[in-house]
Amino acid sequence: MGSEASVKHAHSRVEIDTATAPQAALDAARRAAAIDIRFPAFKDGRGYSLAALIRESGFAGELRATGDILPDQKDYLTRSGFDVIAPDEGSPRWARASFTHAYQPGLAKGANDRLPAYRARALAARKAQVQALNQQYGDAPPETIIAVALEVFAGRIAMLSSFGIEAALGLALLAQVDRAVPVLFLDTQRHFPQTLSYRDQLVAHLRLEDVRPLTPDPAEARAQDHDGRLYERDSEACCDLRKVRPLNAALDGFDAVITGRKRAHGSGREALRPFEFDGERVKINPVAGLDPARIASLYRDMKLPAHPLGAQGYTSVGCWPCTAPSAGTHPRDGRWPGSDRSECGIFDPVRTARAEAASRRTVRLIG
Ligand code: SF4
Repeated sequence: MGSEASVKHAHSRVEIDTATAPQAALDAARRAAAIDIRFPAFKDGRGYSLAALIRESGFAGELRATGDILPDQKDYLTRSGFDVIAPDEGSPRWARASFTHAYQPGLAKGANDRLPAYRARALAARKAQVQALNQQYGDAPPETIIAVALEVFAGRIAMLSSFGIEAALGLALLAQVDRAVPVLFLDTQRHFPQTLSYRDQLVAHLRLEDVRPLTPDPAEARAQDHDGRLYERDSEACCDLRKVRPLNAALDGFDAVITGRKRAHGSGREALRPFEFDGERVKINPVAGLDPARIASLYRDMKLPAHPLGAQGYTSVGCWPCTAPSAGTHPRDGRWPGSDRSECGIFDPVRTARAEAASRRTVRLIG
């Protein structure tokens, strides 16, 4: 019943005017997929504040400015979070048909190259928050980092787990604080059967309440991996299909994600801090500072079950086509053996830069 109602709302467009109370505007943002803010007069600045407030609440749908709008307001409208500007038909000041032509780009140079002000403010605040958390908890033990993260990002945080060789520790620490926190599992459909049975064993052992398997989009998988051997032809495209895109979609609803990354695993992780901001959301790395010996002793102390492949020489476990027992001394030696890859792309800084660029909105003029 509830989901039917929310689907209906999710496809709705709501119109509010500049006199709408802030709380009513936020209620509209929760209900609607698109919002029109009507400017009764071009000099009415309340529409900018409402737009910024709606964007800062996390609203990601279309925000359209309608009514009596002047061309040189475009820069302000953009930075307030509008992505469509639709002046009224026959507006006495600005006929829709003339809007695009009459707009003087030189007056608001670079409007589309800058982050909207609401977004820039949110990014700056998030960066400062991460810096403060690292200053206060940079050397704290993993259980403290998890407890702090769950408090600071309550309701907006998930843990990402591969249910791999060292995954049980982070999951157990999470379960000690809150078993209901969502745990995201990238079900690439290429996992070892041992990983899947270990996942089920850990879920039961730790009584995790909300483990969410993330699978690739079936249509995309059919189109891009028709024979199921994309990992042979282009392993980066395969990881993009089976890991990066499903994770991006799942993370949309979260401000923070807890990872199991460690400095001891190298591959660019040597300087990992417990709290990180990637330009989009906060990553929390509670076990960043633990080395394999410390992890092994915590497994013993906490009586955690071991991944079955650990006894067969695997020190890091991913998908079966791309994982081998470790041949060297490095924990991730067995990942993508024979290639120079060591990361699947979900923590790729290039991806982060792409995500940040994607947040730069291009305003559409309707006229
Ligand atoms: S690790 Fe291998 S099989 Fe798994 S998604 Fe990446 S390329 Fe595909």
